[in-house]
Amino acid sequence: MKKRGKFHTKFIFITGGVLSSLGKGLAAASIGALLEARGLRVTFLKLDPYINVDPGTMNPFQHGEVYVTEDGAETDLDLGHYERFTSTIMSGKNNYTSGKIYYSVITKERKGVYLGGTVQIIPHVTDEIKTVILELASKEVDIAIVEIGGTVGDIESLPFLEAIRQLGYDLGKENVLYIHLTYVPYIKTAGELKTKPTQHSVKELRAIGIQPDILLCRTDRFLPADIKRKIALFCNVEEDAVITAKDIDCIYEIPLIFHREGLDEKIVEKLNIWTREPDLSPWQNIVKTYKNPTDEVTIAIVGKYVNLKDSYKSLNEALIHGGLALNLRVNLKYVGSDELTSENLEDVFKDVEGILVPGGFGARGIEGKILAIHYARTKGIPFFGICLGMQLAVVEFARNVLGWKEANSTEFDSNTPYPVIYLMKEWFDYRKGCVEQRNEESDLGGTMRLGAYPCKLKRDSIVYQAYKQEEIFERHRHRYEFNNAFREALERGGLKVTGTSPNEELVEIIEVEGHPWFVGVQFHPEFKSKPLRPHPLFVDFIRASYERKLKLRGQL
Ligand code: GLN
Repeated sequence: MKKRGKFHTKFIFITGGVLSSLGKGLAAASIGALLEARGLRVTFLKLDPYINVDPGTMNPFQHGEVYVTEDGAETDLDLGHYERFTSTIMSGKNNYTSGKIYYSVITKERKGVYLGGTVQIIPHVTDEIKTVILELASKEVDIAIVEIGGTVGDIESLPFLEAIRQLGYDLGKENVLYIHLTYVPYIKTAGELKTKPTQHSVKELRAIGIQPDILLCRTDRFLPADIKRKIALFCNVEEDAVITAKDIDCIYEIPLIFHREGLDEKIVEKLNIWTREPDLSPWQNIVKTYKNPTDEVTIAIVGKYVNLKDSYKSLNEALIHGGLALNLRVNLKYVGSDELTSENLEDVFKDVEGILVPGGFGARGIEGKILAIHYARTKGIPFFGICLGMQLAVVEFARNVLGWKEANSTEFDSNTPYPVIYLMKEWFDYRKGCVEQRNEESDLGGTMRLGAYPCKLKRDSIVYQAYKQEEIFERHRHRYEFNNAFREALERGGLKVTGTSPNEELVEIIEVEGHPWFVGVQFHPEFKSKPLRPHPLFVDFIRASYERKLKLRGQL
């Protein structure tokens, strides 16, 4: 096992207690933002206790968004928070599930690596976990932030907790910090904040041998000194290590609240690191804009998972970032695509300035999305199609402009006479090889085009105006592609291909001639948008949508 000794990287372990959904991922990301603002170099690791090898095959209703990294790993959505809050670039190495860990242990066992020994959770599984954690140590990293998914007390997270307990011992006090996120509810009828759930959660953690150094207490108000004192006493932590993690509207305010509570100061003190005071002005500016926008704009997101906003996490954030860049509040109106009909279209979209059709898989709701695209195209409403949204924009154009009524993607109709979107055999096989090489553990999902690919932009295009560069790199996650057999006919009809792979074989971006803003992209730009570096396409889409609003108001 690689020992830390060679490098100076220190570790912060973040666990959660009482209940799930307290915002561990955002807390981890915000700590990263604060440490970066102090000039430290950070990295992250998310350890998920479930048995799936990665979330790639999981239903968005179960798991929320699948976040795709540059190197094409399908990961937990918390990696999206890490990238948005910091300058880190995550990869497959930054997310491990129990499934991935066990897979590796079992593969080693089959290969005889354990030399006939009995393979056990302790030490073999825990050693595997420790190896994965210690892989984060390098010359380039001052602090590695490791978030353990799940809630303390769950059976399945025990091996992870045991591994981080051992690391505390192996690496020594000044190199390891345990942060526990817990819940302090305000009970209305009693008019009191209650500390008992926190006490129990910490007790549970201590029973496994982990004494937290810092407590982040999720609550609806700032904790008064007496409550902090009480928690400190019962949980055996210092009083100024009890930090309020208050509910807020704007997630980008979390680093500011943590700082105000003294969290970053406490972390560097405990880890015995000298740093400068943090420069938080970029975050302050964002929060200021978020709270005092000059105006607002409403965007409809027409999708299948509209009831679970976590499914479109990066997309929602990217739209908000686009608004922040223009001092605008972006209201998101979720429209369930299977409820759209030609009768209710007008009514559903009457109060929106832009329409976005996001990525998706499977046939449900397809026709509703096509109706929405048709509406946006013919009414001159700014339209942004992402992945499936782009593919359906091509289908809509083929059906309604070229009159190929049966045009479709072969994902939905394998017998269509006009397969404008299809599986490209040679690329499919090539990709399978690449992806398998990149990620040995992935056998399912190996057929998708995953991760960052280059794309060449045409100068005379909306997208070039937005990016202001000729070559871009964006992340993909799909199987189907634009069918070049129909390209010439579609282009003659007014569909513009404005972005392709460098060899021009893969169509990556389409626009519509004469429309104010109609852009379909085969990739997922939302994964690369950050509040401090909003994605140019989202900024431009919001700008165009707002322009429409001003025009309708007669102000432009
Ligand atoms: N289902 C489509 C495909 O596999 C689109 C995928 C997506 O939108 N991410 O190509």
